[in-house]
Amino acid sequence: MRLPKPKLRELKEAIIAVSSTLSGRRFTTKFPAKPCRVPENYRGKPEFDLDTCIGCGACVNVCPTEALTQIDDTQAEPPTRKITHRYDTCIFCGNCSENCTTETGIKLSQQWDLAGLDRAAMAETHDFELQKCEKCSAIIGTKKHLVWLYEKLGPLAYTNPSLLIAKSGELQTKPQAIQQQPQPEKAADASDFMRILCPKCKCELNIQL
Ligand code: SF4
Ligand code: SF4
Repeated sequence: MRLPKPKLRELKEAIIAVSSTLSGRRFTTKFPAKPCRVPENYRGKPEFDLDTCIGCGACVNVCPTEALTQIDDTQAEPPTRKITHRYDTCIFCGNCSENCTTETGIKLSQQWDLAGLDRAAMAETHDFELQKCEKCSAIIGTKKHLVWLYEKLGPLAYTNPSLLIAKSGELQTKPQAIQQQPQPEKAADASDFMRILCPKCKCELNIQL
């Protein structure tokens, strides 16, 4: 009987595997008795770098499986953005890392041994303080994001008082006089330029004054 070509190939592979095993060469790793090393470019669990992640949420928008989610809790004190990564639904595609605003806020690690019995525990959440518009209370973004923009723009940031005030808030040099609460009813005046404003309020102020 003549064996078809694919069968011959399988037979050849089986003979090689058996003879390799008999001669001491293994095709499988000894995990978990020994740690399993993965290739250098292996795409494992995405890890946030909280020094460089600014909580902008760009990675959430490009995640194809909604493994990354974002909730803005505007009632919390201070208002907070929560970004959650569920690694039980992550497919390790790397979209989040490739599209990260700061380029290093999230990176795929080589962690692959993520199996567990409790799916609820397969998530991690990071909190970022939100900045509200000091006139209308709309969410502008995270405080870290505004400071990052200030640093990224360099001297150009001096054209945007909101960024300057956000930076001085981070340095805790913001004068008490400009730590204003939202006053939606107050008529606009020049002092409003020294507030952290959302694009809509800034545009209205520019038209009014
Ligand atoms: S690796 Fe892909 S699936 Fe996983 S969190 Fe990033 S974008 Fe989402
Ligand atoms: S895109 Fe980057 S900086 Fe923005 S939230 Fe995601 S990891 Fe952080």
